[in-house]
Amino acid sequence: MRDVAVLGATGSIGTSALDVIARHPERLRATVLAAGSNVDALLRLCQQHRPAHAVIADAAGFAALRDGLRDAGLDTQPHSGDAALDALVASDACDTVVAAIVGAAGLPSTLAAARAGKRLLLANKESLVLAGELLTRAAHDGGATIVPIDSEHNAIFQCLPDTNAHAGLRRILLTASGGPFRGRSRAELKQVTPEQAVAHPKWSMGPKISVDSATLMNKGLEVIEAHHLFGVDGDRIQVLVHPQSLVHSLVEFIDGSTLAQLGLPDMRTALAVGFGWPERISSGVSGLDLLAHGRLDFEPPDLDAFPCLRLAFEALTVGGTAPAVLNAANEIAVSAFLQRRIGFLAIPALVEDTLAALPPTPAASLAALHDADAQARRHAGQAIARA
Ligand code: NAD
Ligand code: MG
Repeated sequence: MRDVAVLGATGSIGTSALDVIARHPERLRATVLAAGSNVDALLRLCQQHRPAHAVIADAAGFAALRDGLRDAGLDTQPHSGDAALDALVASDACDTVVAAIVGAAGLPSTLAAARAGKRLLLANKESLVLAGELLTRAAHDGGATIVPIDSEHNAIFQCLPDTNAHAGLRRILLTASGGPFRGRSRAELKQVTPEQAVAHPKWSMGPKISVDSATLMNKGLEVIEAHHLFGVDGDRIQVLVHPQSLVHSLVEFIDGSTLAQLGLPDMRTALAVGFGWPERISSGVSGLDLLAHGRLDFEPPDLDAFPCLRLAFEALTVGGTAPAVLNAANEIAVSAFLQRRIGFLAIPALVEDTLAALPPTPAASLAALHDADAQARRHAGQAIARA
């Protein structure tokens, strides 16, 4: 029996994870559920899944969570705050952790799971972008197994489960749907709205990653993520736009073989891989009818219209604190775009400006990375306030 902590339980990945867990009562149970600020949604999940612990990050929600659990007659213990979450993740309340908090806010709990040697189903890509070396080292030292949940990285993981295969690996081919604005020119992107940006053609996801998919920053973050997970440099990672979103990524070996993983665009497949590996368990996702889909297309990304992808490759090459700065500036820019304070094209402009203003330093410690993250947030925030 796996005891699972679902962090970001009320979100898109969290909901999919709980769906897979509920299909396997004999082998999976949700023992810890954690969310940011939506107490009502968390209470509904507690009624359904009856975890031993529930955590609301926002301390203002504690009393409502405690009273709601009591009124529902549940023995779930209420908690609030980041320190409580990190302690629970590291405790024997769980042996498996689904890291699905959005943004750099997910780093402390993800690190806690890595250090404590848990099976870590890692969806929170921002923590790898911000602190990839520290996180992978912590997982190694703590004896944690990381199973990437990002569909592309989960695909690569399935093609490369044996670390010995890395010796013959030539390159990684990361696929991208191209997002809702694929094919548009830079000029045509000027007036796009948050509603248009979050309407993804293939995947149903939270608002932040949906905007990242529209700017192609999501693919840029994934390039950095792939570097840390699979130990390949940026020049051995190629991005292919694949509008059907059926080939989730590919690996090419030195003997000319290319392996791919295919499936319908539904995150429950990757989550089932994470829970079951090396066994296969059902996920609720049906198989792929290739005859019904008919064709698979591939095209190069348009770095002119979508400069975020280029900025991410550059930040990876520069290294040090540059990826942390890229990520933090992007989080601030996306949040301002969703609040209609800046336009769509201001997102890459702000990220580029912040990278130029904050020269990279070595990513020597968590403190150095936190400092770079905070400086980038301040710089980007001030630029938005001035605009
Ligand atoms: P979402 O916005 O739907 O959900 C985010 C969750 O995080 C919510 O439960 C929210 O309550 C919680 N949260 C936010 N801030 C928090 C905080 N400070 N402390 C604790 N909890 C907090 O987002 P999502 O689409 O589920 O994405 C989650 C993560 O998974 C992101 O890093 C994203 O990049 C990654 N991811 C998502 C998908 C997808 O299909 N949705 C695919 C690949 C990777
Ligand atoms: Mg992805």
